[in-house]
Amino acid sequence: MSMMKKNIALAFLLALSSQGQLEAQAGTKTQADAKISARTVAMHRRLLTLDTHLDTPIHFTRPGWDFADRHRLASDPSQVDLPRMKRGALDGGFFVIYTPQGARTPEATAKARDHALVRAVEIHEMAARLHDKVALATRADDAERIAAQGKIIVYQSIENAYPLSGDLGLLDSFYALGVRMIGPVHFRNNDFGDSSTDPNGPEYHGLSPLGRELVARANALGIMLDASHASDDVLDQLLDLSKAPIILSHSGCEGVYDHPRNVDDPRLKRLADKGGVIQINSFGAYLAATGPNPERDAALLKLNQQYGDHHAMTPHDTAQFVAARAAILRRYPGFERSYAQFEAHLIHALRVLGLDHVGIGLDWDGGGGVIGMADVTAIPRITQTLLDAGYSEGDIAKIWGGNVLRVMKAVEAVAATDNKSGG
Ligand SMILES: [Zn+2]
Repeated sequence: MSMMKKNIALAFLLALSSQGQLEAQAGTKTQADAKISARTVAMHRRLLTLDTHLDTPIHFTRPGWDFADRHRLASDPSQVDLPRMKRGALDGGFFVIYTPQGARTPEATAKARDHALVRAVEIHEMAARLHDKVALATRADDAERIAAQGKIIVYQSIENAYPLSGDLGLLDSFYALGVRMIGPVHFRNNDFGDSSTDPNGPEYHGLSPLGRELVARANALGIMLDASHASDDVLDQLLDLSKAPIILSHSGCEGVYDHPRNVDDPRLKRLADKGGVIQINSFGAYLAATGPNPERDAALLKLNQQYGDHHAMTPHDTAQFVAARAAILRRYPGFERSYAQFEAHLIHALRVLGLDHVGIGLDWDGGGGVIGMADVTAIPRITQTLLDAGYSEGDIAKIWGGNVLRVMKAVEAVAATDNKSGG
């Protein structure tokens, strides 16, 4: 087993857990009880729909797993693949190059760099192999054109800039590979700045000097800055420093549930004032509290440890893992959050910010998913919710993609101006 494969297996396992707290996966979530009219489905299919945080590349190198195949929640933890995107009418989104935060040493940073570069190559390999069904996109204008060809739109983003901490010049390399969004941090502080969830608290009280360089270089290149996972101070400083609007690619509202990963209303308003957008996620632990259940947590931990010994799960092991996990969650119910709890964040953001500053980033394959919306096939339910809340087709088109493309265009315009002025 190569180190790279090991890292990928580890990343996969990390996706199944979070902050030491074990996350809900799709095993027991059902697509229960959603009343979605034929009119809604037809409208949903007409819209250009983008999700700004798809962790699906985490599955690309799993043995026997293919993005072109349809997978089932009963036997596989993945939530997005090509057939299911077609079924749910998700036209595309940002495919994430995610790197777990590791040690901040030159050796570990070099490994992280290799991991991220390989992940970008894997996304390119997928797009090349399936070129009649998907297309890589780098500009806001690409989305409509690719959708009109009936292909899936594949933008690329980086979650956690840690792989770049040894050499910020790599940002230019990732730009050349097509990356158009970057979030400086993940669960822990790194050389770029503070995370919202580092158990040791803030280190820089915002961005580090390197983090400030990242902002300037991202602006100059035309890469969107993503404040999901960043501390409030980092978000404030991104809003101060960035010449272009910024994005929260997968976040929630502190006004609904007080969690460090969620953002308070005054900050959301500042984000909107600067032209930015919050993309609402469906990551259970950030949506609502659940009561403590030590037996369940112990059972999930034991299961993860048992399978964590595997370097890369075979389809057979994966199916056993998913079934065992579902059995634990059935035995100790109340862990998985509901669609209504997701919806509360979406409606709150719309109420506070208006419809020009809210979108969708469900964190599929990164811990997202709720009871009633367990994989990408269920997303027409969001369109139904928005229709029921009184939004028009034009409004809903903004929420499903228009807003993020507007932010992308603004980012492109800032880069063009930067380059013209010889910056
Ligand atoms: Zn994330």
